[in-house]
Amino acid sequence: MNAPAPLSEASRPAGEFDLIRRHFQRPGHPRTPGVALGIGDDCALMAPRAGHQLAISTDMLVEGRHFLPGTDPVALGHKALAVNLSDLAAMGARPLGFTLALALPDANDPWLAAFAGGLFALADAHACPLVGGDTTRGPLNICITVFGELHPGHALRRDAARAGDDLYLSGRTGEARLALALLRGEPWALQALGSDALQTLPDLGQRLDRPTPRLALGQALAGLAHAAIDVSDGLAGDLGHILSASDLGAEIQLGSLPVAPALQRLPPAQQEDCLLHGGDDYELLFTAAPDKREAIEAAALDSATPVTRIGCLTAAPGLWAVPADGQRRAVPTRGFDHFG
Ligand code: ADP
Ligand code: MG
Repeated sequence: MNAPAPLSEASRPAGEFDLIRRHFQRPGHPRTPGVALGIGDDCALMAPRAGHQLAISTDMLVEGRHFLPGTDPVALGHKALAVNLSDLAAMGARPLGFTLALALPDANDPWLAAFAGGLFALADAHACPLVGGDTTRGPLNICITVFGELHPGHALRRDAARAGDDLYLSGRTGEARLALALLRGEPWALQALGSDALQTLPDLGQRLDRPTPRLALGQALAGLAHAAIDVSDGLAGDLGHILSASDLGAEIQLGSLPVAPALQRLPPAQQEDCLLHGGDDYELLFTAAPDKREAIEAAALDSATPVTRIGCLTAAPGLWAVPADGQRRAVPTRGFDHFG
């Protein structure tokens, strides 16, 4: 008679270890100095450089909530890690490694291979190895935790903005929101761009599926800029987090916001809505003292990242949009809220 399987084994999906070995363990992959021990033991061992702080962030992606069922697994692998690396960037941290907790409805090898392909392409580009995780059966859910390091005192905290700071944005906002509207068939977007817009403007879909974490810029800003946040829920909403943490207000010069070609085809009100309230951009929004303008320009150049000065921080509370030729108006800072 066979001995009963230990409980822990009985609760595992069949082939769990095999699945991890085939898709997530990478023997022979170059070791990075930040990781003393990777996948395979009860814990990974991280080795930040002496005198550094650990920066840690977790983000979960749930099917039907953060991405549509049937999303390309390569893009999903990329995005799951990208949104986490974006948090390290927004803190000014250098990535050391990450863990992956994965719930899967079934062990679908082609899907897993594609997912791992997207994941590791981005991980390798930033020398950020997968050091551990957990794998279980369940509705598709991807939870990544990233570990980074930075110098004490250099973190770009949300509460560190000062009145009179310049306000900067990397890249541009709004395209991911517009791409989502087209995918969902929202009439305003279809009317302005046509139903084939995602095919004729492939860059637009890329902005939703394959965000670029601004890691090089974040590290160049560490110890130089004051406050930073990554724009995941809309420029205004995420700026609101800096404003409330720093107890300040801000003015955005609307005319200074970079406008992507696809957004130029929208009526003004919808264009402004995408620019200020669109989500999923993963750009960096940050503040710095006006006497640091040259240094910020150099940081943008060194990191090959477009950066635009879009406004300033004020001692008076509130968020205001200033049109090129008109009265300033109050902007709501309410971002996306899963329980709102
Ligand atoms: P434990 O029972 O100690 O939690 P597991 O059996 O869950 O360990 O995992 C075995 C090893 O495989 C551990 O080192 C764990 O970190 C790693 N691992 C499990 N799932 C994943 C995954 N999805 N990606 C990377 N490593 C994983
Ligand atoms: Mg485990």
